[in-house]
Amino acid sequence: MGSQRPTSQRPLIRERLADERGRIDKDAPYRIALTYPSPYHVGMSSLGYQQIYRTIQDHAGTAAERVFLEDGGDRAGADLAEVPVSYESLRPLGDFPIVAVSVAYEIELAGLVKMLDKGAIPLFADDRSERDPFVLCGGPLTFSNPIPLGPFADAVILGEAEEIIMPAIEIIRGASSRADACAQLAEHPNIWVPSVHGERLATIAACSNELLPAHSTIITPHTELRDMFLVESERGCSRSCQYCVMRRSTNGGMRIVPKDRLFEIIPDDAKRVGLVGAAVSDHPKITDIVNELADRGVHVGLSSLRPDRLREPFVAALRRAGYKTLTTALDGTSERMRGLIERRGKEKHFLAAAERARKYKFERLKLYLMMGLPGETDEDVDECVEFVTGLSKIVPIALGIAPFCAKRNTPLDKQPFAGVDLVTKRLERLRKGLKGRADVRGTSAKWAWVEYVLAQGGMTEGRALAEAVRSGGRYADYRKAFAKLGQYPNAKDQPKPVRKLDLLA
Ligand code: SF4
Repeated sequence: MGSQRPTSQRPLIRERLADERGRIDKDAPYRIALTYPSPYHVGMSSLGYQQIYRTIQDHAGTAAERVFLEDGGDRAGADLAEVPVSYESLRPLGDFPIVAVSVAYEIELAGLVKMLDKGAIPLFADDRSERDPFVLCGGPLTFSNPIPLGPFADAVILGEAEEIIMPAIEIIRGASSRADACAQLAEHPNIWVPSVHGERLATIAACSNELLPAHSTIITPHTELRDMFLVESERGCSRSCQYCVMRRSTNGGMRIVPKDRLFEIIPDDAKRVGLVGAAVSDHPKITDIVNELADRGVHVGLSSLRPDRLREPFVAALRRAGYKTLTTALDGTSERMRGLIERRGKEKHFLAAAERARKYKFERLKLYLMMGLPGETDEDVDECVEFVTGLSKIVPIALGIAPFCAKRNTPLDKQPFAGVDLVTKRLERLRKGLKGRADVRGTSAKWAWVEYVLAQGGMTEGRALAEAVRSGGRYADYRKAFAKLGQYPNAKDQPKPVRKLDLLA
C-alpha cells in the first residue's frame, strides 16, 4: 500500500482544481477513488465519468476522489513517475477501500495496468488480500468486450452504471470479505464477477430514462473541450451500421431528450455547449436547438453529424453557432464499402455537404473514414481518391482515417484485421493519390492491430497485455506477448475471414 504522499504533482493539481467550476467538495466518512486510466484532460471530457462522479457525490455518506493517469503516462513505453494520487486530497490510490475505474476503449487497459502497478495494488484480482482495494470497473468498453479487463477487476458493471454504482458500493462496503462482496455482486444481472462467472458475461444495463440527460458537473478549461458544458441530447442510436456497438439493437435504440428538458439543464450563463450522443444529428429538433443556442450567443459543439442529416437549415445553424469545420463520416472508401456496412451516407450527401460547407463559408469539410473493411480492394481506395478529389474542388477537405477493428456485439464481430502491411500500403496509396488535394491523417495500423486483438480477446489476452506493458509497452512488446498465445503469429499477414459474411455475397 502506498502511504507516502508524493508532492511533485501538487502544483499542477492545485492549479487545475483552482480553475474548475461546479466541483462538489464534500465531507463523507467513506471515500472511494474514481479512477480514469487516461490523463486529466481526457477523463474530464468524459460525460460518463462526470455522471458517475455526480451520482456518488449525491449519495449521503460516500464521496468520490478523482484519480487520473499522470500526464504523458498514456504514451507507449512511458513509465509513471509517481504513485497515482487523488486530486481532492493527494491520497495514494492504494489507500482507498474501492478503486472504481471507467475504461473507454481497449488501449486504455494499459493505463490501468500502469496505475495499479505504480499504486502497489496487486495487478491481478486473484492476488489481492483483504487489505487491498476492491477494483470495481465499468465504462464504454463494457458495451463490446470487457473480458480482457477480467484479470484486473474484482467486478465489472456492464453498460449504463448510473443505477448500479451506489448499490454495488454499498455491497462492497457492507461485505464481510472480498469473497463475500464478489458473491453478492455476482447475483446482480448486470455485474460480471470474473472470479465467479469466468468469461460468461452478465447482461448490459440500461438506466431509467428519468435519469437522462447526463450532463457536466465540473467545467474546466484544461480539456480539449475547453470550458464546454456537455449535455447528452440523446442516448443510443436508431441506425444499424454493421461495425458499431451502439446500433439500434443496443439498449432499445435511440432515447431522445426533449428540447425543453435540455434547456432546463443548460445553465443560462453557459458560453460553450457540447451536445453529446451516438447520433446527435438524428435528434428531431436538432436544428431548433442549435439555432436557439446560437441566438443566445452560445458556441455549440456536436459529437456526431450524419451526412444524410446535413440539410441546409441545419448546416446554416451550425455556422451561426460557431462551427468552422463541418465534420461527418465518409466511413467506407467506396459506395460498395458503405453499402456493406449499411451506412446511409451516399455520394450525393457528401457532395451536398461540400456545397453547403462552401456556401456557408466553413473552413473545411472533415471526413472520417475506415480502411481495411472486409472485402476492400485497391479499387475501392482508388474510388475514394477520385471522389475526394472531386470534393476538394468544392471545399478544402481533411480526411481522418482509422483502420477497421471488428468489435464484439456487432454483425462484423470476428471479421479479421486486414493486416498492418496492407493497411499501411492502402493508406499510402490514398495519401499519394490525394497529395496536394486533401489533408490525410491516419491512425497507426500497428496500434489498431493491438486494439483488434484485445477487442476480440479474452482474459488470456488481458494477461498478455499486462506482460507487454510490464515489458515496456511498446508495439514490439505487444507483438511478442500476443505471439506467445499462438493465434496471432504475424500481425503483418492478412488473415482469412473467420466466416463468410452474407453481406459480402
Ligand atoms: S456508427 Fe453512428 S450512426 Fe451508425 S449505428 Fe453507430 S452510432 Fe448509429
